[in-house]
Amino acid sequence: MSTQPQTDTATVQGHAKELVRIEGVHKFYGSHHVLRGIDMTVRQGEVAVLIGPSGSGKSTLLRCVNHLESISAGRIFVDDHLIGYRERGGKLHELPAKEIALQRRNIGMVFQRFNLFGHKTALENVMEAPVQVKGQGKAAAKRRALELLERVGLSDRANHYPAQLSGGQQQRVAIARALAMDPELMLFDEPTSALDPELVGDVLQVMKDLAASGMTMVVVTHEIGFAREVGETLTFMDGGVVVESGNPREIIANPQHERTQAFLSKVL
Ligand code: ADP
Ligand code: MG
Repeated sequence: MSTQPQTDTATVQGHAKELVRIEGVHKFYGSHHVLRGIDMTVRQGEVAVLIGPSGSGKSTLLRCVNHLESISAGRIFVDDHLIGYRERGGKLHELPAKEIALQRRNIGMVFQRFNLFGHKTALENVMEAPVQVKGQGKAAAKRRALELLERVGLSDRANHYPAQLSGGQQQRVAIARALAMDPELMLFDEPTSALDPELVGDVLQVMKDLAASGMTMVVVTHEIGFAREVGETLTFMDGGVVVESGNPREIIANPQHERTQAFLSKVL
């Protein structure tokens, strides 16, 4: 499809295995048909950026990937595991909550609102899941949490409570907290949309570093600069369908569909 010469990265990406495979996914809320047949794949180590107008189904799609929402039809695989369901006799049966929880351990999610535990320090927030969910020892969890806080540039804020941190710092703690479970996939749902403009850059930098470290990421964002610079693929959704998907630089420079053009002209 691409007419540009392949870079080394593209070649490597071309050989990387599919980590996420979304096949024919539909989602209804009651009679409201929100996802209308979504197909999408994300390769290991790829940064897939998802854009689209409000209400187009981006958050719903992300939430389906870690089964925070059930799906009405189709299949989602992460690392070859069918998410949320077991297939038996040609039919899908929802997995027991315990098995869904196990699948979710491998998938980190960062939301627009940071939802940190307000009564816990940054350090305690990052330690929480490894200790409570994985049963990791406190000393090891603390060492790892301090490493992660350093990675997001918050070594000096370990003992601060969320209320003592800026929104950007809280979001970086939320990223460290998601990483503490050693996920193989990270989902970001508009991680900078709730931030004051001057705080956006630090969060995007942490995400860039994470991408450079080889993490597989699906990022819903209106930060077109991030999509262009860091994204390996760009997918434009509207009305519950994928309208256009491909190389971010090509799509941004030369969108093929009128709806993509109209959307980009508003956010650029
Ligand atoms: P986006 O993230 O692209 O803005 P969403 O996935 O949040 O879009 O929403 C897609 C559509 O689904 C919207 O029309 C929204 O109102 C609807 N929707 C989202 N969540 C729910 C829900 N829990 N119950 C009913 N409708 C919902
Ligand atoms: Mg959303």
